[in-house]
Amino acid sequence: MRKRIFALLTSLVLSLSLMTGCGETKTSASTGEAASAPATESVATEESETESVSFGADTQAIIDRGVLRVGVKNAVIGFGFQDTLTGEYSGLEISIAEKIAKSLGVDIEFTAVTAATRTELLDAGDIDCVLATFTITEERKNSWDFSTPYYTDYVSVLVETATGIKTLEDLKDKTVGVSSGSTSAKALTKAMIEAGVIDGSSFDADSFDAATWTEGVSFKQYDDYPAISTALSAGEVDAFCVDKSILAIYNTDTRDYIDAKFSPQDYGVATKKGSDFSVYVETLVSTWLSDGTIAGFVAENGLE
Ligand code: GLU
Repeated sequence: MRKRIFALLTSLVLSLSLMTGCGETKTSASTGEAASAPATESVATEESETESVSFGADTQAIIDRGVLRVGVKNAVIGFGFQDTLTGEYSGLEISIAEKIAKSLGVDIEFTAVTAATRTELLDAGDIDCVLATFTITEERKNSWDFSTPYYTDYVSVLVETATGIKTLEDLKDKTVGVSSGSTSAKALTKAMIEAGVIDGSSFDADSFDAATWTEGVSFKQYDDYPAISTALSAGEVDAFCVDKSILAIYNTDTRDYIDAKFSPQDYGVATKKGSDFSVYVETLVSTWLSDGTIAGFVAENGLE
């Protein structure tokens, strides 16, 4: 069975190499602040499964380096979480990344990323792929390759219970904290329009900008989630909006989710656009989706 999968991988990677001439096409640069020095961790993986298999140039470069460099979250429980005492990473995205490294027969190095830094690091070639609650969108597909989704989450909103905010209606004319480089502000605005809370005649999904939107709700953008959590405690924002998986760690005793979850977020493995490594990763992810490997990781990490 394993032999068959790798034979398939080989032919797919080879055919993509022929189609693309093995070139890496950098089509876009992300916005946002410069990445800070990443925290890294090296983990030895098990025996090589790569003997006598040919790979495209991008994939071969990772094998030659001997290390797969992966951008992951470090504070999303069940997805990408780093134990502050041991430095160990765990979660669904960590398990998938480790299995990709094992398939290549290389070690793995994790770099903690934010919504804003993950694409900068990928574009700069500092990491080979991103497994960091990265939602697949049509717009993003113009700039990066994404695997088939390995998990679907939803967007929600966290508030201080004492504010009495409970619904999308209660968010009318409020200020909401979101992360730069995230889908959250657009998703919340759309959900409020669909719920009839705001008119939305001037909403245009393509040109929407969280920084300038003021119709019925406005946004403050932050570099990372701890900063939004602090702003929520300080009353600098009335609510904190992002994927429910990310909000979980910030849901303290004094806080609650509003009664709404919306905008499905399909998480995919992101790789450089046009890279043969994208094809390699896609083959693995689609195989692990159909053979139950990913469902096993989802269950192991307490996710639904
Ligand atoms: N998943 C959302 C996105 O990709 C939320 C941001 C995040 O992943 O940190 O935009």
